[in-house]
Amino acid sequence: MDTRVIDGVALARRLREAIRERAAELAKRGRTPGLVAIRVGDDPASKVYVSTKMRVSVEVGIYSEHVELGADATEEELLRRIQALNAEPRIHGILVQLPLPKHIATDRILEAIAPEKDVDGFHPCNVGLLATGQPRFVPCTPAGVMAMLETEGIALDGREAVIIGRSNIVGKPMALLLLQKGATVTICHSRTQDLSSHTRRADIVVAAVGRPHLVGAGMVKPGAVVIDVGINRLSDGRLVGDVAFQSMLGKVACVTPVPGGVGPMTVTMLMANTVRAAELASRAA
Ligand code: NAP
Repeated sequence: MDTRVIDGVALARRLREAIRERAAELAKRGRTPGLVAIRVGDDPASKVYVSTKMRVSVEVGIYSEHVELGADATEEELLRRIQALNAEPRIHGILVQLPLPKHIATDRILEAIAPEKDVDGFHPCNVGLLATGQPRFVPCTPAGVMAMLETEGIALDGREAVIIGRSNIVGKPMALLLLQKGATVTICHSRTQDLSSHTRRADIVVAAVGRPHLVGAGMVKPGAVVIDVGINRLSDGRLVGDVAFQSMLGKVACVTPVPGGVGPMTVTMLMANTVRAAELASRAA
């Protein structure tokens, strides 16, 4: 079987063009979309993620600010920053880069972001809207996966989807989105018995675990669609996913590479959410 390798970079480029046009339309009316990223501490991966988000914001015409707080910043300090940004009309999207240092309660911080500026889609209000089928801001990674599946013309209605990972930012919202498209969804996690017995019957497998090469060719059925969300840094410096990519070639219908698959789509969806936040604010004004 010929395996199609889904090119997340090319797809993200196309989508960003459309986002840029929407941002320009808002700018013409004096309503340039604005995004703030807050980073606390010195986590090297977080630094890379935030700088990518800032760079892409500029590319698509979103005004962006980067707030950097030291690892010893207090929860109260972070809450005060968020409250000030909630009231700032130039800012339509606020994201707090995770993970936060252990002394800060992540839930409290995410709940402090105004739901209409919560472009990561992590506020309980937005999680609830997604769960009830009225999504406002969908978490960026699962939104990116859905955009990929749609653009690739992959049918979901009535098909078996197996997600590995049950985090609030990837696995759970991914399950809701696939369910809303008519897939029969199974969520697996670290307590799942016999993971392969689930993945082998899936038409669509989404791996969001954080374990290099966890999913090998023996775990998927011929002709499946395999989406690799994982990002893992090996000791030799290489970046790999949760899927043994090479082993999939010739066996599955479609697979996403790492890097160059889901990652660029995640950043693109953040831009889409920010422009949407600015459009909604402009309509409400
Ligand atoms: P997470 O919060 O650590 O969740 C990982 C999930 O995997 C958990 O539900 C865990 O189960 C499950 N798990 C761990 N070991 C397992 C095993 N051996 N078998 C089955 N399930 C297992 O991670 P996350 O934030 O969802 O991220 C997952 C991966 O995606 C990471 O590599 C992350 O870097 C990457 N990521 C990529 C993007 C992107 O843009 N491409 C965006 C976000 C995240 P329990 O719940 O039982 O512990």
